Amino acid sequence: MFQLPKLNYEFNALEPHIDAKTMEIHYTKHHQTYVDKLNEALGKHPELFEKSSLRQAQDKLESLLSNLEAVPENIRLAVRNHGGGHFNHSLFWSIMTPNAAGEPTGELKVAIEKDFGSFIAFKEQFSKVAVSHFGSGWAWLAKDKDGKLVIFSLSNQDCPLSQGLKPVLGLDLWEHAYYLKYQNRRAEYIEAWWNVVNWQKVGENYKS
Ligand code: MN
Repeated sequence: MFQLPKLNYEFNALEPHIDAKTMEIHYTKHHQTYVDKLNEALGKHPELFEKSSLRQAQDKLESLLSNLEAVPENIRLAVRNHGGGHFNHSLFWSIMTPNAAGEPTGELKVAIEKDFGSFIAFKEQFSKVAVSHFGSGWAWLAKDKDGKLVIFSLSNQDCPLSQGLKPVLGLDLWEHAYYLKYQNRRAEYIEAWWNVVNWQKVGENYKS
């Protein structure tokens, strides 16, 4: 049912910030495993995805992650972990680009300045949350139900959708995302990652 989304760039396109080997393993092994295990879990409840197109299935996955309590108990943890993993990584690939513009524009720029004071202040706060997150997880910029932007981290593959928040920007903090190039130096990885953020796509996530 689910499959890896197409990457819009080559594995080496984000170098030197994200190295080709990390991209290749992250996408073809780690993300593929989340997809496979999600499909395996959903195979136990075919009624959930009956006659869905791939687009409808993506919407359905978002709705399951938004209301995990409604997911059948015997696959709830698998949907949370592997469904979250599939959603989070799909978003992650899409908000990176080799042609990064460096800064947000338009409505997102206005919202960041309103909610954090300045782009610089936003980056500092986001990086601080990302550096200090304990263990595996993600740092997030998300929009709450009133449209306000919030920064926080979640463990494992937990998804902001499950907290009633709309994900706008996410940074993978699992060691598999940076260890080959940066080893224990997570702060360096985070600093480098800012160079490949696709602010145009992030702006679209904010508006949608
Ligand atoms: Mn990952």
